[in-house]
Amino acid sequence: MKSSVLLIYTGGTIGMQTDPHSGTLVPFDFNHIYEEFPSLRRLAVNIEVLPFEPIDSSNASPELWVRLAEIIKENYERFDGFVVLHGTDTMSYTSSALSFMLNNLEKPVVFTGSQIPIGVLRTDGRENLITAIEIAAAKDAKGMAMVPEVSLYFQNRLFRANRTTKQSAEELSAFVSNNYPPLAEVGVSIQYNESLILRGGGEGEFSIDTRLCGDVAIIKIFPGLNERVFRAMLGSGIRGVVLETYGAGNAPTKEWFIGALREAIERGISVVNVTQCSDGEVNMDIYETGVALQQIGVISGRDMTTEAAVAKMMYVLAHESGPKEIELMMKKSICGEIGR
Ligand code: ASP
Repeated sequence: MKSSVLLIYTGGTIGMQTDPHSGTLVPFDFNHIYEEFPSLRRLAVNIEVLPFEPIDSSNASPELWVRLAEIIKENYERFDGFVVLHGTDTMSYTSSALSFMLNNLEKPVVFTGSQIPIGVLRTDGRENLITAIEIAAAKDAKGMAMVPEVSLYFQNRLFRANRTTKQSAEELSAFVSNNYPPLAEVGVSIQYNESLILRGGGEGEFSIDTRLCGDVAIIKIFPGLNERVFRAMLGSGIRGVVLETYGAGNAPTKEWFIGALREAIERGISVVNVTQCSDGEVNMDIYETGVALQQIGVISGRDMTTEAAVAKMMYVLAHESGPKEIELMMKKSICGEIGR
């Protein structure tokens, strides 16, 4: 029997084409996908398209994440897999958030997009789209989904979505997953790295949990960050901070800096430490500058990306209120976003 895939189009570069008359970029109509790409008929997949009013993903927000989760929930039984077309700029945020909001997932949810519009001759979108559909429909020998998790496909590699970061505004290979190897690599055939793929879908039935706390901030430290600005950010009514530190999780040991953070933590703000480096992890045991953070109760985000850490913080703060429970949840892997 043919697999069926729901293709949800949210916007972004992938959904544009050149108008032959004016030469400008205009929206591509995904409702006519088979006419535009007749070769899609050769895939043994029934594709149904659900186009949103397209947005540039710079305008994506938790409302979009919730809407996506709800659509996947409403259509979960009818389809074998889901492909979400999304602008590349914030694709790692949206897909990370979805990985936390979809519980006991047993079907693929594959995000993709493109750097060059799909209606432009040299587009990277055609291959990204076709292979994402193929992956969303793929089953193993037992008829189970090959990749039953939230993933991101781009330029021949399939990644765990909550491990990705957009690394280039120019290269076709726009995304990296430096702290977790690809779930699949695509050449002449699709090579799945089966031992790296999350399976089992947890214990219960598939469900969604769309509660998120928006009172969070990402604070990137830099030489020159001053006390007034730092205190203003910490005093703005937030409940959680993703602190982007240097190297292996280091930050200034100046008294005002540690003092401001300590006071914030005492006021009940949760602070998780992630590194500004695109590769490697936080280890607050190595340097005095990391130990100082650990002593005042900063939580290690280890090898989480900033995108995953902020989405996870929003999710965890909406579910836990005690600082100990928050710390425990932030340190624990919910869906493969932390640790190896
Ligand atoms: N600005 C676009 C977006 O994120 C870029 C893209 O899709 O590649 O929506």
